[in-house]
Amino acid sequence: MNLAKLSSILQTEPKYRFAQVNKAIWQDFISSWQEVSNLPKALREKLEEECPLEIRAELDINKGKNKSVKALITLIDGEAIETVLIRQKDKRNTVCVSSQVGCPLACEFCATGKFGFRRNLSSEEIVEQVVFWARYLKAENKDEKVDNIVFMGMGEPFLNYAEFIKAAKFLNNPETLNIGSRRMSVSTAGITEGIKRLAGEKMQINLAISLHAANDNLRKDLMPIAKKYNLHEILKTVDNYITKTGRRVMFEYLMIKEVNDSDRDALELAKLMRQPLYIVNLIPYNETGRFKSSSRERIEKFKKILEEAGVAVTVRLSFGADITAACGQLRGRKK
Ligand code: SF4
Repeated sequence: MNLAKLSSILQTEPKYRFAQVNKAIWQDFISSWQEVSNLPKALREKLEEECPLEIRAELDINKGKNKSVKALITLIDGEAIETVLIRQKDKRNTVCVSSQVGCPLACEFCATGKFGFRRNLSSEEIVEQVVFWARYLKAENKDEKVDNIVFMGMGEPFLNYAEFIKAAKFLNNPETLNIGSRRMSVSTAGITEGIKRLAGEKMQINLAISLHAANDNLRKDLMPIAKKYNLHEILKTVDNYITKTGRRVMFEYLMIKEVNDSDRDALELAKLMRQPLYIVNLIPYNETGRFKSSSRERIEKFKKILEEAGVAVTVRLSFGADITAACGQLRGRKK
């Protein structure tokens, strides 16, 4: 979609055309201008020619047990990004979007990190991922829609802050998808400048920190970015964010077998996480080669240690080990 082009075409049209077009794209989720019967034929053809709505995507054929689906979207320059639709039992739908093609942070446990960084996504390319799934849901079941958005796909959103926040504001706009900001979450590897900027936004987007280790040494081994942002600095920035916003912050902790999942790791993590508005989310690791996932028993024991220390903790079912969903895995397979 080229929204600038669309807007310039509509400049010469009567004002009410904007409302018709907005409804068609953002509420009816059309994928061809021919579907908008209330537009004149000549305008439909011009839009089809100069502003096509097609989103080139390939669905992952392995539908997971949890009915989550993954898609590989091909962008205008031939680059490919992943996006996932997570379908919950209560019929709520969460879309996980990518914010970059590849990722410069090269975390050891991440398939995306292995591809290196290609480029930032534009806000339109981020929005397009949500629109893709909105169309998918409409085609499948007219009652379902996109309820939540998580900026947790390929890339580090805070290294593409301007486009990330532009996309979030666009998706929040009542004239487009009207998705409440409290229904959006962004995850960062700890880019403190981004946390500070988010604290200053009027939007109430949920913040998650990818922690994955309870000390700087292990964190540096797993996440090279930890050499630049240490835990003390990240937690200080998060505390300031909480003071300013009064919002809870989630700390994501991948459970990696014999790497970060010992009792000692849990006790060390508990010391860091004793803050009323912190919540720890333990995530079974999607195996990508070098590392293995902690066993269910180990995760339960780890959780118990945190709970006994007074830390709020949840265990997230990994969004889709069964749909090749560790970020970057689908892209890697297709390439
Ligand atoms: S885990 Fe996230 S931040 Fe780390 S390399 Fe992968 S996409 Fe980038």
